[in-house]
Amino acid sequence: MHNLSTAPEPGEAERDPQPEKLYEARAAVHNKRIDGPFRRFKWFVMLVTLGIYYVTPWLRWDRGPYAPDQAVLVDMANRRFYMFGIEIWPHEFYFVAGLLIMAGIGLFLITSAVGRAWCGYACPQTVWTDLFQHVDRFVDGDRNARVRLDAAPWTWGKVTRRAFKWSLYAVIGFATGGAWILYFADAPTLLRDFFTGQAASIAYITVAVLTLTTVTLGGFMREQVCIYMCPWPRIQTAMLDEKSLMVTYKDWRGEPRGSVKKAQKNPGEFGDCIDCMQCVAVCPTGIDIREGAQIGCITCALCIDACDKVMAEVGRPRGLIDYATLEDCEREARGETPRPPWRTLLRPRIIAYTLIWASIGLGLLFALGVRSHTDLTVSPDRNPPFMLMSDGSVRNSFTLKLRNMESRPRDMEIAVEGLLGAVMWSDTTRREDAAATQIVNVAADQTQTVRAYVMAPGGTPAQDFAFRITSQDEQRETDTVETRFSAPGDQP
Ligand code: SF4
Ligand code: SF4
Repeated sequence: MHNLSTAPEPGEAERDPQPEKLYEARAAVHNKRIDGPFRRFKWFVMLVTLGIYYVTPWLRWDRGPYAPDQAVLVDMANRRFYMFGIEIWPHEFYFVAGLLIMAGIGLFLITSAVGRAWCGYACPQTVWTDLFQHVDRFVDGDRNARVRLDAAPWTWGKVTRRAFKWSLYAVIGFATGGAWILYFADAPTLLRDFFTGQAASIAYITVAVLTLTTVTLGGFMREQVCIYMCPWPRIQTAMLDEKSLMVTYKDWRGEPRGSVKKAQKNPGEFGDCIDCMQCVAVCPTGIDIREGAQIGCITCALCIDACDKVMAEVGRPRGLIDYATLEDCEREARGETPRPPWRTLLRPRIIAYTLIWASIGLGLLFALGVRSHTDLTVSPDRNPPFMLMSDGSVRNSFTLKLRNMESRPRDMEIAVEGLLGAVMWSDTTRREDAAATQIVNVAADQTQTVRAYVMAPGGTPAQDFAFRITSQDEQRETDTVETRFSAPGDQP
C-alpha cells in the first residue's frame, strides 16, 4: 500500500507537501486585441494558410481527356494522388514518404532555428483558434467586454449572443470539414451532390466529424490542446538549446517591476517592467512570459507587440520581451552586445538539417524527373509450374501487370528475352498467333492485367529469362522484369 502521508520517514529529508488541488478547472482565456508587426505577420500567415486550404480544391489542371482536371486530388477509388503536374501511383509511395520525412526534418529545422514558430504561426490548431478568437471579438467585443459577459447571469441577451457566436463556430467548422472532402473527389461535382443529398454517406460522416472536432478543438478547448494534448511541444523542448531563438522576457532589465509612478518616486530602484500585464492580456494561451520559458508559450510573439507598445508609451527602449537566445540573454545581462539574430542561424545543427532537408528534396525531384511512366510486374503460376505439351514443348503461365502511367492510351510491346526459341501468346490473342513479342493496348492511366503463356521447345532446361515491355510511342519507355522458366527437373 502506498504511503500517502507527507510526514518524513526517520532519516528522510522533509517532503514537499501535497498540492492543495490535484485538478484545476480551466480559466477561460480572453485575449486582448493588439496590433504590431508580429500580429500583422500572423494575419498574413493566417490568410495564406486558410487561403491555400479553401482554394486549392477549386484549382484546375489540364491532364487531357483521360485524367481528372483537379489540380490536387486524392483519388481513392483509382488509388492515385494528383498534385498539379505530378501523379503518384500506389507503388510510388516512397515519394509521399519522402515528403513526410521532409516535413518532419523541416519542423526540426524550424524549431532549432526559431523555436516554436510552427506552433505560433502555422499550426492548424493555432490558425483556427486565432480565427475563433476573432469571432469572439466580433460578437462579444474585446477582452473586458468578454470577461464581463462571461461573469454576467444568463439573460436573453447573453443567450442570443452565445447562440449567434456558436452558429458562427459551426459555420467555420462546417466549411473546414466541407473543404477537406473536396480534396478526395471532383470539387464542383461533390459540392452539388452533397447539397442534393446524392453524395456518398462517408462524405456526410466526414464533414460531421470534422465540423465537431474543429468546433471542439478550436472553439472550446483552444490552448488546452497545445498544453495538454499535443506531443509536439514536448518534443520541441528537447530540441531547443541555449542557441535557439525564443520569446524571452529580459528579467535583468525588467526587474524589479514597478509602476511608472513608483519608478518616478524612487529613481534607479525599478526595472523597465511597469507591471501593466499587457503581455498577459494579449497572450492567446493566457500565460505570463515573465515567469520564464514554459510549455504554454507557442512563441506567437504577440506579447512582444504589446510590450513594445507599452515601452514606446513610457519612453523606454523596445525589446523588454523579444526573440532572443539564452546565450545572448546572458551576454546582454553582462552588458555585452548581443549577436545579430541571423548569426544564430549559422550553426552546425541548422546547417546539417538544411543540407539533409535539401538533399532529400533534390533526390525526390531527380527521381520524379527520371521516373518511367511504364511499369511491369510479373507473377509466375506455381501450381502447376509448367505443362508438358503433346509435342514435347514446355509451357509456363504468368500474370503480367502493365502500368501505363501516361494520361493517354498506349500500345505496349511485350517481349520474351533470354529464352531460346520461346514464343508467347496471351488471353487476348490466339495460340496460332504465338510469337516472341505481342502488342497489348493499355488504357490511359490504367493497369492492364494480362495472362501470358510462354512456350519453349522440348528439352529447354529450367532457367531465368525476362519479360520486357516497350511503349510503342516516341518515348519508347521500357521496363524489364526477370523471372524463371520452369521445366522438368527444375529444383524449386
Ligand atoms: S507588457 Fe512589458 S511592461 Fe507590461 S507587464 Fe508585460 S513585460 Fe512588463
Ligand atoms: S507568452 Fe507571448 S509568445 Fe508566448 S504564447 Fe503568450 S503571447 Fe505568444
